[in-house]
Amino acid sequence: MSKLVIEQFPLGTFQTNCYVAWVPASDGSAVGRECWIIDPGEDPEEVIQFVRAQGLVPSHILLTHAHADHIAGLNEVSTAFPAARVLLHAAEHAFLNDPQLNLSAFIGMPITTRGADGTLAHGDQLELSGSVWRVLHTPGHSPGGVTLVCDAANEAFVGDTLFAGSIGRVDFPTSDAATMHRSLHTVLMALPDAVRTHPGHGGATTIGAERRTNPWLQDGRWVAEG
Ligand SMILES: [Zn+2]
Ligand SMILES: [Zn+2]
Repeated sequence: MSKLVIEQFPLGTFQTNCYVAWVPASDGSAVGRECWIIDPGEDPEEVIQFVRAQGLVPSHILLTHAHADHIAGLNEVSTAFPAARVLLHAAEHAFLNDPQLNLSAFIGMPITTRGADGTLAHGDQLELSGSVWRVLHTPGHSPGGVTLVCDAANEAFVGDTLFAGSIGRVDFPTSDAATMHRSLHTVLMALPDAVRTHPGHGGATTIGAERRTNPWLQDGRWVAEG
């Protein structure tokens, strides 16, 4: 398998990371290769242009969760690439057309999007040009948060569950701190140190670095501040 390529595009007011992932051909070419677009946020035109310029063919638009900043560009990207299937966890299908649930109502720009084409459920496997990805349900920041992990490549998309040195907020109406604790400690920390994590905001980090230094993953901290 050629090496997986992941491009990061921080988009919009909240600098929400949209990712384009693909496995190049053996000569390194992207032309005609399948790609995924993950979390198409606000003003996704540069992502659309990038995908077209590379000659990539989006097969899926995957949502780590359906907060407004992660779906604000969904309609535009989906219109640009109508063959790409929109998948997210069933617990957040209703978020797509509900500004209260997707939090857009609270920032004064209510967002509704097209519906989902299917679901991402814990234990599902997806394939991207021969690379196998596992879906892990990592709720807490939101009820349908998912992490996508490629064990062979040691890469993961973790949405707003884990950031470099921090974690996602758990004070939203559909957040749950105890559930977040379980997702972080039981699900994500079960991954090997080498796994590189690509978060919804900020730069990439690794499971190992966060296990050692993230204050929210140290014993006792959660109880003290959670
Ligand atoms: Zn979020
Ligand atoms: Zn976010």
